[in-house]
Formats: sequence, C-alpha cells, structure tokens
Amino acid sequence: MDAQLVTLIDLQAFDTRIAALEAEAVRLPKQIEALHAALADAKKTLETLKAKADVTKKDLRTKEKDLDVVTAKRAKAEARLWEVKNNTEYSAVLAEIEAIKQEKAKGEEEILTLMELQERLVVEVREAEARFKTREEQARQDEAVVRKKLAEVEAELAVVRTERDSRARELPRSLLADYEKILRARGGVAVAAVTGAAVCGGCRVSIRPQAIQELKAARAPMLCESCGRYLYWQDSA
Ligand SMILES: [Zn+2]
Repeated sequence: MDAQLVTLIDLQAFDTRIAALEAEAVRLPKQIEALHAALADAKKTLETLKAKADVTKKDLRTKEKDLDVVTAKRAKAEARLWEVKNNTEYSAVLAEIEAIKQEKAKGEEEILTLMELQERLVVEVREAEARFKTREEQARQDEAVVRKKLAEVEAELAVVRTERDSRARELPRSLLADYEKILRARGGVAVAAVTGAAVCGGCRVSIRPQAIQELKAARAPMLCESCGRYLYWQDSA
C-alpha cells in the first residue's frame, strides 16, 4: 500500500481517538458539576427544613410567654373577685375570667400543636442530616472516581497528540492540510474504508468498479467522488 495512504489511515485512527478523548475531557467536568449541583440542592432542602424547625421553636417560645401573661392576668382577675362591691361588678369580673379561660385554653391548644410539630421536625431534621451526610460521602467518592478518570484521559490525550503530530510530520504539508480540511468538514472522518460491499465507508455511496481496481492497487491516496474522503481498500475479514 502507498506509504502516504498508510500514514493517512494511521492519522485517522489517532484523530478518532483524540476526538473521543476530547469529548470525555469535556463530559467529565460536567459530571463533577452535576454532582456538586445535586449536593447543593440536597443541602438547600436540609437548610429549609432546619429553618422551619427554628421558626417552630421560636413560635413555641412566644406562645409560652403569651400563656404566662394570660395566666398572670387570670390570677389578677380572680384576686379582684374579693374586692368587688356589688353583683354587677362581680358578674363583670366573672365574665372577664371566663374570657381569659377561653384565651388560655386556645393558647394551650396552640402550644400542644406546636410541640407536636416541633417533635416531628426534630426527627425529620435528624433523618435529613443523616441522609445528607451519606449523600455527601457518596458524592465525594463519585467525584474522586471522575477526577481520576479525567486525569487519565488528559494524560492519554497528551500522549496520543504527541504521537499523532509526529506521524503527521511524515506527510507533505499540502496533503496534511487537505486531510485536516476534510476532517473538519466531514465530522472528524477524513479516511474511509471500502470493503466487499463496494461502498464508501464514510458516505455509503457505491464506488465504481474501475475505482475499486485502483483502490485495490493502492498506488496513491484516492478520494471518494461523492463525499471527498480519502478511500482505502479493506479486505472483508
Ligand atoms: Zn464517500
């Protein structure tokens, strides 16, 4: 086979590998970003739950203070029962006490509801914290795996690029420029195989029988008449 054609085939193999590695080098950091984003979301959910627990705690304290005030008010009103001068005043104080009792009952009910809510939230926060910790640890491990893979990809990329460039120097400048132009224009495939099916491996268009003969002789790089890629003959295994 023509030496330049062999070099082109090798170059295509290098460039295909480089393209795959470059795609990985772009994809892997995105995977790390996704891990961070998911963890940030989980953290936000946890913080929201904690904030709700804090608000409930504060509400409970306020209600308990309010209840103390109502209790003091009731004691005062009851003391006044002994100081009233007539029935009208007595009835008025009794009515006042009754209203205070209702206010107190309402306050106690609210406190009970808040206490139940607080207990539930304490459990929920504890569970959510445990879940988050597990998740955080998992994310750390996942990230380490991805970072290792990324380092490997970058190391391999450097090696393959060096090998590719040294191989590329074997081609005349103009042929290399043509190859690279086709590579860019044809989705990263500039060299295509033709097998027994007699179609271009790049565009699937049939190759004329005469061209097949020339391909088999492989005396010089030939271009596909349809897509313009370099062609080479490959015996079907
Ligand atoms: Zn073609």
